[in-house]
Amino acid sequence: MDFKNVTVAGSGVLGSQIAFQSAYHGFDVAVYDITDDALTRAKERFEVLKKHFKKDLKATDEQLDAAYGRLSFHTDLGEAVENADLMIEAVPEVLDIKKEFYTDLAKVAPEQTVFATNTSTMLPSTFAEYTGRPEKFLALHFANDIWRSNTAEVMGHGGTDESVFNDVVEFSKAIGMVALPLHKEQPGYILNTLLVPFLNSAQYLVVNGISDPHTVDKTWMIATGAPRGPFAILDVIGINTPYHLSVAKANAGDAEAAKVADYLKTEFLDKGRMGIQNGKGFYDYPNPRYMDPDFLKE
Ligand code: NAD
Repeated sequence: MDFKNVTVAGSGVLGSQIAFQSAYHGFDVAVYDITDDALTRAKERFEVLKKHFKKDLKATDEQLDAAYGRLSFHTDLGEAVENADLMIEAVPEVLDIKKEFYTDLAKVAPEQTVFATNTSTMLPSTFAEYTGRPEKFLALHFANDIWRSNTAEVMGHGGTDESVFNDVVEFSKAIGMVALPLHKEQPGYILNTLLVPFLNSAQYLVVNGISDPHTVDKTWMIATGAPRGPFAILDVIGINTPYHLSVAKANAGDAEAAKVADYLKTEFLDKGRMGIQNGKGFYDYPNPRYMDPDFLKE
C-alpha cells in the first residue's frame, strides 16, 4: 500500500521531528496532541526544525514553507486520523498513557490505518491487543535529530502482517531514512542492544577506579577508529538519561548501578555538567579534547 496521509500523535521532541521530516518529503501530515498549548509548543519546535533543515540539509525557504503547509493541527483524535493511511505514535514513554491512547484510537481510526509506535523501551506486543488491529501494528523507531541521525528501526511483533511491515519499511525510505528491519522483537532494538551494555561497561571501568573517562574514550577511539568514545557519547545523550536509568536499576537492587548513579549525581549533575546540551559534561564544549588530534597521541 502506498501511504499518502500520515498522522503523528504526540508533538513533543520526536513527534514534531517525525511530522516535519514526513512533510518535508511530501506527505500530508496531521499533527495530533492533547491540548492547544502542546500544539503551540509544537509550532515553535517546527520553527527551530526549519533552521536545522536549512543549515544541515541546505533546505530552501520554499521547501520549508511547503513542508509546513502540508501540516495540519488537531486536538480531536477522530478528526486527526480520519484520512490516515499511517498513524505514528510518539506520546510519552509511559505504559498507561500508551495503552489508553491505543484504546481510544482503536475506536475512531479507519479500518485501513496502519499504526506504528516510536517507543524506545517497550515492545509492540505490549500494546497490540489495545490497537484492535494487531496485524496492522508494529514499531517504527527513530533517533533524536531524525533529519541527520536518519535510522528507522522497523520491528513487528509476532502477529504483524508481513505486507504491513514491508509497507512501513518503504515509507521510512520515502521520508529519507535508512530502514533497519528487525526480524524479531527485541527490547532496545538493534542500537540500544549494542549501546546500553557498551555504555554500562565504560561506566563500570570508571566507578570501580579501573580507569578514567578520557583514557577509556582514547582506548576505544584508537583501537577501533571510532570518532567518539563512550563518555563522549554520554555527553551527546545528556547525563540525565544514564542517571535516571542507573537510579531505576539501583532501586531494583543493582549495587553497581547505585555507584554509577552516585557518581553521575555528585560529579556531574550537582555541578551543572549536563552534557553537550549545556556545554559541560565529561568534556568541555564547543571544542572537546577528544576532537583535538593530540588527544590520541598523548
Ligand atoms: P515528549 O515528552 O517530548 O512529547 C510527548 C508529547 O505527547 C507531548 O507533546 C505531550 O503533550 C503529548 N501527549 C501526552 N499524552 C498524549 C496523548 N494521550 N495523546 C497524544 N499526545 C499526548 O516525548 P518524546 O521525547 O517526543 O518521546 C515520545 C516517544 O518517542 C516516546 O515513546 C519515546 O520513547 C520515543 N522516542 C524518544 C526519543 C528521544 O530522544 N526523545 C528517541 C526515540 C524515541
